[in-house]
Amino acid sequence: DKKVCVIGAGLAGTEAAFKLAEEGIKVDLYEMRPMKMTPAHKTPFFAEVVCSNSLGSFEICTGSGLLKEEMKLLDSLILKVAEKHKVPAGGALAVDRVKFSKEITEILENHPNINVIREEIKKIPEDYEYVIIATGPLTSEKLSKEIQNLTGQEYLYFYDAIAPTVDAETVDFSKGFWADRYGKGTGDYFNCVLTEEEYEIFYNELLKGEQVPLKDFERAVFFEGCLPIEEIARRGKETLLYGPMKPVGLTDPKTGKRPFAVVQLRKENKEGTLLSLVGFQTKLKYPEQKRIFRLIPALKDATFVRLGSIHRNTFIQSQKVLLPTLQLRKNPKIFFAGQITGVEGYVASAATGILAGINVSRLIKGLEPVIPPTETMLGGLINYITTEKDELQPMNPNFALLPDLPKKVKDKRKRKQLKAERAINKMKEFIQTLYVNT
Ligand code: FAD
Repeated sequence: DKKVCVIGAGLAGTEAAFKLAEEGIKVDLYEMRPMKMTPAHKTPFFAEVVCSNSLGSFEICTGSGLLKEEMKLLDSLILKVAEKHKVPAGGALAVDRVKFSKEITEILENHPNINVIREEIKKIPEDYEYVIIATGPLTSEKLSKEIQNLTGQEYLYFYDAIAPTVDAETVDFSKGFWADRYGKGTGDYFNCVLTEEEYEIFYNELLKGEQVPLKDFERAVFFEGCLPIEEIARRGKETLLYGPMKPVGLTDPKTGKRPFAVVQLRKENKEGTLLSLVGFQTKLKYPEQKRIFRLIPALKDATFVRLGSIHRNTFIQSQKVLLPTLQLRKNPKIFFAGQITGVEGYVASAATGILAGINVSRLIKGLEPVIPPTETMLGGLINYITTEKDELQPMNPNFALLPDLPKKVKDKRKRKQLKAERAINKMKEFIQTLYVNT
C-alpha cells in the first residue's frame, strides 16, 4: 500500500502534506485546480486566499492572533511564508496573495517527499494507508457525494446559515429573562425583551440595513427555514413577530405578561460562554449587524464573537462523525482537516491541517494520535467542533472557547492576557510530549 494521500492543496492540505513530508513520510498531494476550478479560486496556486488577503490580527489577545502564535510553535508553513510576503496592514498579518501562494506551491512541488498530482478526486482512494480529506468549503460535487456516503447524508451540510454569536459576559441579563417556551425544558434560552417602541426602531433599521451582495453561486442558498432575518422582515411588519421574534409561550417574570417581542439567545457551548441569536441568520454587512443588533436592549454593549452570514460551505457535522484526533469515527484511517471540519477561515483551517499531519505521522511511526490541550486555541477549537451538540455551526477562534482561569480575574484585558499565556505554555508542553518517545 501507498502511505498517505492528502486531497486538496488549500490552507489545510498544504500544512498537512508539509508536516508529513518534513517527518520523512511520502505523500501524494491531489489538487484539482487548474483543470477544475472552484467558484471562488482564480489561480492554479496552492493555499490561495480567495477573498481578503488578511490572515487576521497579530495580537495574542485575539483568537486569531493566539492561534497564529501557537501555529508558529508548531512550525506552520503558511505562517512562515506569510511572514516573508507580508504587506503593511496595521495590527494584522496581510500577504501579497500571489507571491504567498506561489511560494507555497513551489515549496511543496519541489519537496522530495511530496508528489503533486493535479487531478480531481471523485472517489476516496482505497490504496493508501491514510487519507486526509482537506477539500474545503467548495469541495467538488462528486467528492461531496462520496463524503456523504462516508458520514451519512444528514451529516454533510452544503450551506452555512450562521446566526451571530455573542460573548455571554457582555449581555445585559437585566433586560430579559431565562425561560423555554411554554415552560418546557430547563430554561436554556435567554429571552431579550423588546417593547413595541423598541421593536419599531429595530424593525425600521433592519429594513434599511446594507446587505452583502450575493455571489452568483450563492443565489440558490435561500430556502424556507433558512431565510435571512432582513428578508423575513421585508415580508411585513408583523412577520418577525410570528417568526424568530415571536413572544408566544413566554411570560416576563418582571411584568407577569407576555413581552411584545423577544430575541432568544441559545447556549452554543456547555459552559454557556457563547450565546447565539436564534433564527438570526443574515446577509447584512458586518458593521451593520453590530449597529442594528445592538438596538436589542440586552445586547446594547454586546461583543460579537462571530457575525451572521449565509454562504456556500461544505462542512461535516464533526461532533457526530469525527474523533478529536480528526479521524473519522467509522474509519480511523480517514482524516478530515480544514474548513470542511466546521472551523472557519484561513488560519483555523490551516491549524487543523497541522494537527492532521501530526497525527497521521504519529500513527505511521506506531505512536498514538494526540489531541491538543483544551486550554490552547487549537485545542479549544477542536474541542468545540467535536463535542456533542445537536447542530454544529462553523466556528472561528475566540477566547470564549477557552476554559476559565482557576481564579476569577475581573479585568477583561488581563484575563485574556492570562488565558493567552496559559495557552502558549500548554502548547509548548504539548509539543514537548510529541517528541518524548520518538
Ligand atoms: P481551501 O483553501 O478551499 O482548499 C481546498 C482545496 O481543495 C482547493 O484548492 C480545491 O481546489 C481543492 N479541491 C476541492 N475538491 C477537490 C477534489 N475533489 N479533488 C481535488 N482537489 C479538490 N476566510 C477568511 O479567513 N477570510 C476571508 O475573507 C474569506 N473569504 C471567503 C470567501 C469565499 C467566497 C469563500 C468560499 C471562503 C472564504 N473564506 C475566507 C474561507 C476560506 O476560504 C477557508 O477558510 C479556507 O480556504 C479553508 O481552507 P481549506 O484548506 O479547508 O480549503
